[in-house]
Formats: sequence, C-alpha cells, structure tokens
Amino acid sequence: MIRLSLSEVAELAGGRLEGAPDGAVTGTVTLDSRAVAAGDLFVAVAGERVDGHDFLGAAADAGAVAALATRPDPALPCVVVDDPVVALGRLAAGVHERLTAGGVRTLAITGSSGKTSTKDLLGQVLAAAGPTVSPPGSYNNDIGLPLTVLSADAGTRFLVLEMGARGPGHIARLCRVARPEVGVVLNVGSAHLGEFGTADGIAQAKGELVEALPAEGTAVLSADDARVLGMAPRTEARLLTTGRSEQAAVRAVDVVLDESARARFTLVAGGERHPVALRVVGEHQVANALSAAGAALAVGLSPAAVAAALSAAEQRSRWRMEIDRRADGVTVVNDAYNANPESMRAALAALAGLAGTRRIAVLGGMAELGPDAGAEHERLGRDAVAAGVDLVVAVGADAVGIAGGATAAGRRAGEESVHVPDRAAALALLSEVLRPGDVVLVKASRSHGLELLAADLLGGA
Ligand code: ATP
Ligand code: MG
Repeated sequence: MIRLSLSEVAELAGGRLEGAPDGAVTGTVTLDSRAVAAGDLFVAVAGERVDGHDFLGAAADAGAVAALATRPDPALPCVVVDDPVVALGRLAAGVHERLTAGGVRTLAITGSSGKTSTKDLLGQVLAAAGPTVSPPGSYNNDIGLPLTVLSADAGTRFLVLEMGARGPGHIARLCRVARPEVGVVLNVGSAHLGEFGTADGIAQAKGELVEALPAEGTAVLSADDARVLGMAPRTEARLLTTGRSEQAAVRAVDVVLDESARARFTLVAGGERHPVALRVVGEHQVANALSAAGAALAVGLSPAAVAAALSAAEQRSRWRMEIDRRADGVTVVNDAYNANPESMRAALAALAGLAGTRRIAVLGGMAELGPDAGAEHERLGRDAVAAGVDLVVAVGADAVGIAGGATAAGRRAGEESVHVPDRAAALALLSEVLRPGDVVLVKASRSHGLELLAADLLGGA
C-alpha cells in the first residue's frame, strides 16, 4: 500500500481520528487480527460470527498502528466511522485516485463465470510487462475489491480487479471505488439468477461496468455472448470484441484440446497470428484467455507478448480444475470452488476431454438459482450423461434432481447414477467403486465444501 498518515486515512475514509495524529500506515490493510503485521491498519468489521471490535487489543499487540472502527478503543489509535466497510471503500477510492494520477492502469473483469480464472490469466500476462497487482482468489465484493486496491503501491503499473454482482447497483458501486480504464465482460449466465430474476436483469447489472468506463477507455466484450455484445451501446469507451466468432477482433482459430483437456489455438489479433498453448485446463479457458488477451492489448501489449505470456500462465487460484493423480492411478479433478449451470457444463466438458477409462462426476447442488432450481438440476443430470459421464454421484439434499435427471437419461457403462446424503457417504461409496484409470470430477456450490471430499479422495490414495 502507499504510505498514508493516519490523518490522511481519516480524511479519505471520512472518519474522526482518535489519537496518534503523527502516526502512519506503513504496512497493509487487513480485517483479520491474526494476519496483522507491524505498521498495518486493522479494519474492525462485524461479521455473522465474530465482531472485529473484539480483536482491537489483539491487533494492537500484533503491531497495528491504528484501526478503522465504530468506536474509539484504549488499545490503539482509531479512525472512528459509522460503517467500517463503507469507510474501507472510501479509503480505497481516495487511494485509487492517487494511484491513477501516478500512472497505475486499472482493468476490471465481470461476468457470471470465469472472473477469477480470467483475472489470473490477465494478471500473469500483464506481469510480463510490468509490476502487477492481481491477488489469487476471488476478491470481488465490497471488502475484497478495496483490499485489492489498497495492496497496490507506487511501483504498481497494472491493477487487475474482479467485480461480482449480487444485485443491481453493486458493480456501479465497485466502479466508484476503483474507476477502471478497461472493463471486461465475459458472459451472462444464470449464477445468482435467484437474486436477479432474469438473465436480462443479470446483463443489466454486469453492464454497469461498461457504463462506468471513460471515453478513452476500452470495453472488452465477448462476441460469443449476445447479451454481452448487447452492452455495446451502453458505453462511450472504445469497443474490443473477443471470441470464437469471425466478427471478433481478437479471436482463436484452430482450437484443439490435448488429452489433459488443455487448449492449443492460434491467437488472431491486429492482423497477426501467434500460437498459444494453454496450461490451464478446459476448453472454457479459451474464452477466458481471449478476454484476457483483449484487455492486455487494450493497454498496449503486443499480440506476440500476449500469446507468449498466455502460454506460460499457470492455474493460480485453488479448487478450479486442479488435477491430481493418485498412486493407484485414479485421477481427481477438484473444481469444487463454486458451481452454476454454465460452469458445471464447462467442467463436465473438460472431464469428457480427459484421458481415462471411466469418467465419474461427483456433483453437489447449485445454490441461488431461484424458482428454476429443480429443473436446472435435472437438466444438469441429463447433460452429464450426454457429455459422456459414466457414473453420476449426486451429493446432498439439493442434488437429488441431478441424480434423477441422470437416471432418466439412462444407464451407461453398466453403472447407475446414485444419490448420497452427504460427503461421508460419497467418500464411502467412491472408496468401493473407484478403479485405476478412473477420472473423478468433484464440483458443487461453495457452501457444500466439496473440496474437502476431493482432499479426502486424494488422502485415501
Ligand atoms: P465467482 O462468482 O464464484 O467468483 P468466477 O466468475 O470468479 O466465480 P472462476 O472462479 O474463474 O469463476 O471459475 C469458477 C468455475 O467456473 C471454474 O472452475 C469452471 O468450472 C467454470 N468456468 C470458468 N470459466 C468459465 C467460462 N468462461 N465459462 C463457463 N464456465 C467457466
Ligand atoms: Mg471469482
């Protein structure tokens, strides 16, 4: 983070400084008292289970110079505010203005699926051209985004931000914290359909990103998604389209997948053609790579540099298509970070492309789908069978429909789809049925914690 005096913190955050007028934040900003290091600013946030205000003493002991809090505390100087999360956003907005004035270029990514994956690709591509802030993980909300902004410093050249939307106005608000120069919209799917009502409602919300772009900025839009392309009239910024379709300005041709489901293709951009061989897994990463390429080209990287950096980029955030082979020859694909209908299909397609004898999909429920949830789960079960999955294991009460759909779609390879109540039952069943050569995909919505099942499967090798 750039060095800020406590008076500056108070001014930017819109709070009242109690104590230490000469103090300064020389470290970072954190919400977790256990992660505090000397010189940090601690933000006391009241969560569902714990209240950060109970840890002001611990933060002080760990070296925090001050806290953003709703009340003064004898343990350390405090910038007193009504709402520490709102104040964190204000602080980040003030810091972001300074960073931009200092030459930092901000690129933001939204979409229903693939934000983190694309952010990780873009972060690695830009890092080849200059110091880049793009932390692993999914820091896309009112807390994560300001923390990402605040982790940049005077030496930063590129700031890559992930923006998620839980409702109308969210992305507009995030864009007021960090005004992006480049805005990437990946796709409009059915993630959080329950909150938005319709896909058009989701498109309306995601499009807030392109509305926030300045005229001299660039909107990087997926030409393969009609709702994304439909956002073009909503921005004053220059348009750069990406995708597989011929009309896209940045596109992939001659896409082939190797037996690890890694894509190779020719990147066509600016009248040039360059080979790309992705290390990240799944055909869906082609679209993500093209979006990342569009954003990198928008800030001046050459097509050749982009192609080379995409080919070197690794999987950085955890539980997304992590592939491990057990000693007994069973392959476990941990894609348990999250799930919605589109990401489930992307993962099933990748599973189908992996070398192995049998393909087994261990799938939990998809949260927040609204009234269509039942039908969506059944459709997924049917699509899993259609994608060539030999055995579907549906885990948990909300996954019953997946087993039903898979069973309705018919038996394959002598196996029947099964429904089990929980993780332990899934593990017990899999321990019985797994044989060398099997490839097992594990995926569900975040709340199911199925990455633990993937870990158990690997631990049981
Ligand atoms: P979240 O909203 O949870 O932050 P996200 O948009 O950041 O999700 P990622 O974490 O990048 O998405 O990817 C989550 C999963 O979505 C991946 O593991 C993969 O199964 C799938 N996925 C990634 N990219 C795409 C894509 N372009 N299209 C469809 N599915 C995708
Ligand atoms: Mg994410």
